[in-house]
Amino acid sequence: MSEQTMRRREALLQAIGLGTATLVPVWALTACKSQLSCTDTSGISGADLTTRTQLQYMDHSVNPQKVCSGCKLFKAGAENACGSCTLVKGPINPAGNCTSWAAKDG
Ligand code: SF4
Repeated sequence: MSEQTMRRREALLQAIGLGTATLVPVWALTACKSQLSCTDTSGISGADLTTRTQLQYMDHSVNPQKVCSGCKLFKAGAENACGSCTLVKGPINPAGNCTSWAAKDG
């Protein structure tokens, strides 16, 4: 599945209020149990949720070279916890990604 297809799917699911976990089979949930999830957007405004969706935030990047932890807009949280972003509001997964990814300086 292409990166663009994955982004469209996630953006669509977020737009209709469903997380990607809705489509994940039970066996996959068991296999991914230890993976960090930063998809709870209940604490952000509708406008911020729209921005998050428009920038196609994904909780797990399909490109290992472009993950939030390598983006200059990312603010790390505690170990094994969600971080934050100066642009995309809500919890941000260090392994996530959006269309505004920008490499950290130096
Ligand atoms: Fe992640 Fe996008 Fe924020 Fe960069 S701008 S930290 S890629 S959500």
